Amino acid sequence: MDCLTLPPLPDCAERNWIGRALTLLRGDARRSADTHLIKPFFPGLDGISIYLKDESTHPTGSLKHRLARSLILYGICNGHITQGTTLVEASSGSTAVSEAYFAKLLSLPFVAVMPRSTSAQKILEIERFGGRCHFVDTAGEVYSAAQAIADETGGHYLDQFTFAERATDWRGNNNVAESIFAQMEEEECPEPDWVVMSAGTGGTSATIGRYIRYRNLGTRLCVVDVEHSAFHECFRTGNRGATCARSSRIEGIGRPRVEPSFLPDVIDHMIRIPDAASLAAMRVLSDRIFRRVGGSTGTNFFGLCWVASEMRKAGQTGSLVSLICDSGGRYTSTYYDDDWIAAQGFDLAPWQEALDTFLETGTMTLPSAIG
Ligand SMILES: *Cc1c(COP(=O)(O)O)cnc(C)c1O
Repeated sequence: MDCLTLPPLPDCAERNWIGRALTLLRGDARRSADTHLIKPFFPGLDGISIYLKDESTHPTGSLKHRLARSLILYGICNGHITQGTTLVEASSGSTAVSEAYFAKLLSLPFVAVMPRSTSAQKILEIERFGGRCHFVDTAGEVYSAAQAIADETGGHYLDQFTFAERATDWRGNNNVAESIFAQMEEEECPEPDWVVMSAGTGGTSATIGRYIRYRNLGTRLCVVDVEHSAFHECFRTGNRGATCARSSRIEGIGRPRVEPSFLPDVIDHMIRIPDAASLAAMRVLSDRIFRRVGGSTGTNFFGLCWVASEMRKAGQTGSLVSLICDSGGRYTSTYYDDDWIAAQGFDLAPWQEALDTFLETGTMTLPSAIG
């Protein structure tokens, strides 16, 4: 019998690089503490405890720190990233900031492909980490532009929208779901009635939904979508081919197509929230917790209040969890600028008033119906 000729193993230099890269990634994880699960107090919500997992405190300012670490680790372990590989990503900004940080840590070139409307602060952060920004006119163009740059440079397209749900360890390994449920253990109602989360890649809601089943919990998952996004239609009709022509106005969430990482089967309920309501909720929550949160956190918080209001109407008590996805520091010249808000045609006042009244009295009367 012929002797089997084995292909050569990765050479020593490559193995050394991979070993060093893995050590650097483990080091970043070890330097990180778990993020806080904060419990703000709202006088009108007697009997319903609200918890917010504060993902804005990661070194790169958002929940995408976890994702970026996982995607790069996944790329290395798949043999797609090695010494000198150019990393390319399609992003609405937050993921690119976190990936730029990890690319810098590993001394790899990084290119972010983003819509021109991405906040100036995120662009500055990416460039500070040595990343290059490539702009396209609409959110729908990012995918092909990112793939083209990866092809031209012989680089690796990280493709968060496809791989977010796969690169994250859904059974645990300190993913965000495992951390939330562990932090809830000593609470009065340790099994939240609902977790409320928005969707960008859909990866976080996929992780939470799977984890709820894996641990056989009684918790349900409500995903909140924005005005201009394809996710809600997919959830309602099952159509994965759904699209939305206009770009989302809430950075980080809402997509022009149904992303591969969006998994409707692990979602129990979905609601679409007007953008003005999201931004009003962002401001109301920021006032109440004395620090600014981002727009998508407003969407989350509005959804959480809506669920709380439904529970109150049904006479239910319990606990609810949502996430602070990033901080408002990135949006001072947009969502927190009254002139910018007016120029966009948003009228936040009626929504703000409705939410403030709800948080004080427990009764919700909205300017228009939600569902
Ligand atoms: C990505 C992102 C989300 C949504 O998280 P996914 O896991 O991608 O669905 C929410 N808010 C912000 C600011 C984000 O960057």
